[in-house]
Amino acid sequence: FLPHLVASLERVDQTYIMVKPDGVQRGLVGEIISRFEKKGFKLTGLKLFQCTKELAEEHYKDLKGKSFFPGLIEYITSGPVVCMAWEGVGVVASARKLIGVTNPLEAEPGTIRGDLAIQKGRNVIHGSDSPESGKREVALWFKEGELVEWEPALVPWLIE
Ligand code: UDP
Ligand code: MG
Repeated sequence: FLPHLVASLERVDQTYIMVKPDGVQRGLVGEIISRFEKKGFKLTGLKLFQCTKELAEEHYKDLKGKSFFPGLIEYITSGPVVCMAWEGVGVVASARKLIGVTNPLEAEPGTIRGDLAIQKGRNVIHGSDSPESGKREVALWFKEGELVEWEPALVPWLIE
């Protein structure tokens, strides 16, 4: 199975997932990590972190100018967040499905936002929206030594 595995590893993407301050305050960290773990993706970075205004503004720079931007920056910096980097084939799009749409009232039951949140401004989790954003955001939130390369023992049971 090795050549196939190596070929599939070449298509591996990374995504930046973050439990927002409301998720941390509400004790949802374990529940949220668990959903990605169970799906089978590989965790390569994990930390509890107090985000600065500068970092929040850089992360959300595409939304600068929106009416909700100041509130969003205040929200993201209002308490610790849990930063995660996850790797896998198709991980970016799959994580967005697990997360659900931005407005939790419209998010499907079974998704993280659909099950655990009510408002856009308190929607408990962030997930990168493309492989390019995934790369950019993982590099923005993690220093090089904070990411770990490892081979999960379960790989042959998850990838044929
Ligand atoms: N947001 C908000 N009001 C809006 C749109 C977005 O408060 O009308 C917040 C919300 O927390 C969202 C974040 O801004 O998760 C980033 O917006 P984006 O459109 O990128 O949504 P996401 O990719 O997180 O689903
Ligand atoms: Mg987004």
